[in-house]
Amino acid sequence: MKYLIIGGVAGGATAAARIRRIDESAEIVMVEKGPYISYANCGLPYYIGGTIQERSRLFLQTPQSFSKRFKIDVRIREEAVRIDVERKCVQIKKTDQSVYEETFDKLLLSPGSSPVKPPLPGIDAPNIFTLRNVEDTDNIKKYITTHRVNKAVVVGAGFIGLEMAENLAQTGAQVNIIEMANQVMAPIDFSMASLVHQHLIEKGIGLYLEKAVSAFNHASDTTEVILSSGERMEADLVILSIGVRPETQLAKTADIKIGETGGIWVDEYLQTSIPDIYAVGDAIEYPHPLTGLPWLNYLANPANRQGRLVADNMVLGHQQAYEGAIGTSIAKVFDMTVASTGLAAKKLKSLHLPYLSSFTHGSSHAGYYPNALPISIKLIFAPETGKILGAQIVGYDGVDKRIDQIALLIKKGGTIEDLMHIEHAYAPPYSSAKDPIAIAGYVAHNVLTGVMPVVYWKDIANINTNEAVLLDVRTKEEYSMGHIPNSINIPVDSLREQLNTLPADKPIYVYCAVGLRGYLACQILKGNGYKHIYNLSGGYKTYSAATAPISTHITPMTTKGPDASSDDLNTKSHKTLRVDACGLQCPGPIMKMKSSIDMIEEGDRIEMKSTDAGFMRDIQAWCNITGHQLLQKDSDKGVYSVTIEKGGTKQCHVVSSCDSKGKTLIVFSDDLDKVLASFVLANGAAATGEKVTMFFTFWGLNAIKRIHKPKVQKDIFGRMFSMMLPANSYKLKLSKMNMGGVGTRMMRFIMKKKGIDSLEELRRQALENGVEFIACQMSMDVMGVNAEELLDGVTIGGVATYMERAEQANVNLFI
Ligand code: FAD
Repeated sequence: MKYLIIGGVAGGATAAARIRRIDESAEIVMVEKGPYISYANCGLPYYIGGTIQERSRLFLQTPQSFSKRFKIDVRIREEAVRIDVERKCVQIKKTDQSVYEETFDKLLLSPGSSPVKPPLPGIDAPNIFTLRNVEDTDNIKKYITTHRVNKAVVVGAGFIGLEMAENLAQTGAQVNIIEMANQVMAPIDFSMASLVHQHLIEKGIGLYLEKAVSAFNHASDTTEVILSSGERMEADLVILSIGVRPETQLAKTADIKIGETGGIWVDEYLQTSIPDIYAVGDAIEYPHPLTGLPWLNYLANPANRQGRLVADNMVLGHQQAYEGAIGTSIAKVFDMTVASTGLAAKKLKSLHLPYLSSFTHGSSHAGYYPNALPISIKLIFAPETGKILGAQIVGYDGVDKRIDQIALLIKKGGTIEDLMHIEHAYAPPYSSAKDPIAIAGYVAHNVLTGVMPVVYWKDIANINTNEAVLLDVRTKEEYSMGHIPNSINIPVDSLREQLNTLPADKPIYVYCAVGLRGYLACQILKGNGYKHIYNLSGGYKTYSAATAPISTHITPMTTKGPDASSDDLNTKSHKTLRVDACGLQCPGPIMKMKSSIDMIEEGDRIEMKSTDAGFMRDIQAWCNITGHQLLQKDSDKGVYSVTIEKGGTKQCHVVSSCDSKGKTLIVFSDDLDKVLASFVLANGAAATGEKVTMFFTFWGLNAIKRIHKPKVQKDIFGRMFSMMLPANSYKLKLSKMNMGGVGTRMMRFIMKKKGIDSLEELRRQALENGVEFIACQMSMDVMGVNAEELLDGVTIGGVATYMERAEQANVNLFI
């Protein structure tokens, strides 16, 4: 029997080796158009970044070693160009362009996929690359070693794009990612991707979401990447990673059936529509076991598994049906691990299939054992049966084993109940007695059985607080550092005493940091006769990550506090208390900081390590509130460290109710230049210790709108205003010299070039410096702007609120 195999990497080489193992007498020919076979595509980004140092380690086999061990006729640099079904032969082109024919009894196609390269102007510039194989890798590596690559742009934020971003950053380049969708990593849901967004930003990656590239302009080693919004960015190197499509050219020459998603159609034995011709890997489509619908799955595990299975079917007859892949993937994104299996909630939604979901945030192992790191889990399951449909896990440690356990359950048709029954190995360095996936199972079970009705982060923004109560049951300190607009705060431990302040006839939406205290509060409320109680799934941690605005400003992770010079950090004599808050979840680290700072003298310092990503965001706000000084912050492999110097009341350098009179600014205009001036003035005033209030009214509201707004219901006038007004600060125009947007872009460009902070950065600094942002309630009502459309940290107030601030101020400006 003669087997001809096209493609010599994942699927092809696996099948060839397997055929030999089960049939020593078979004649096997493997044709590969590239110069290498059986190499590690998945390792290519890590070779470019230098983690894998020896190029030779990418090759699992050479054509010679493979040929010798398995007695296979390996033909590299030869391309199959046409299949003749009648005559059972394939035309093969050699590098000298000559074509010969090779016959087969059985043929296997494993030609993989090819990167999408849209016909954009300038796309063939010499410093624009795609990454698919060893030759691409060599070209990129050579370019990096022979050119100065300070700035790199990665177009597309799938897992290969993100791996490349990390590896380019590792070579010392400043990296910007441009992604057309509103999130990175399409297979996962937005809420989980938002945790990755924050991590990328922390790592100094410029993340540009909802931006499309329209052209490239190359001149003297630099390519200008031009976005459809008109923005431009310079790059010394561009990686295009906007997806792949199945390689079906060869199949089409034989009229082999192409399926509805564009992959080669195969039956359950992986045979194509033509007998004796089989196909595997990236090139095929196959029904998803959970939906029954065909889909394309570009992953190495299914390609390898199919390679083995198809070999058995080709040699031994059709004995084994392929069960299909549910799509289990994992990726390292700097210190983070992001994994998913099964179907995402958004996929189910698009298919109009019913589902429930739950979020949980836990620790990779017992919190009391050093270096426990956060792990966030989203479970998606069927409302009627509890059958698990999908899971996504984002964390730093132990993500892989948990996603694999859930993937196994999904493949076996397991339910949430099965998840609760998982018996896992436990010792403190590895897990907790209640493993995070067991907890995820318990929480999901509560959701499924109705014990804990939940509300999701997306819906909480639409709650009308005239008709319902939004109840924050965290501590006062946590609440003061950030909360959901219009929520009231009653810490869970005071809830029983304050029940009389809560209406019994309105629904109550409860939230805490991650969901646990919220659950307890719900039980207290239920036990006291309250009927319509909902807990926010995943708590404020999920909400705040999912609604955090994505700054487009590249901020390196290591920063000093505003007043700290390197002399301050190194030479002043002071005592330093080192505190380990790793493993503690919010509000643990802040509470620990508070109790630690109470133990030291003014001028002494705390060095604290924490594994709670939220702590990093909260600490600046906490310092602003308390008057201590954040000297340094840093992150490494999911461990965040901060250095804080204890201040006295006199050192209260940001917003304080100290003696000084405040300043107020009424921001009426939404002209870019005027808004810029407003933030510059506000920051200047805040830096001198003044209390500063900015009152945004009428057009000024456009300066504080979120970029990613949740969907909100509006009446017709609200919708008209939304259409006509600038959607967010990036759409603001200059009051003069706008020239159809050219002047505005020029202004932003020149500011960037001269190192002047952008409007968005100035605004962020203002918030960080404690400047109070008040949105005018009346203007919001008139213009149909909802609270959820405004940035976090904005409070809503009326004229009286402003007047009260103005009374206390000695400078009031109208801009
Ligand atoms: P391939 O392994 O791509 O092999 C196809 C081969 O066929 C190619 O070498 C091609 O040259 C050859 N060929 C095509 N047409 C012809 C022809 N007409 N004649 C002769 N030869 C032909 N997956 C994961 O699961 N995890 C990862 O971490 C991961 N990382 C990746 C990183 C990178 C940079 C890349 C590019 C892919 C990664 N993948 C990963 C995807 C994984 O490599 C693929 O899903 C898998 O290799 C597909 O196997 P295949 O046999 O279908 O195709």
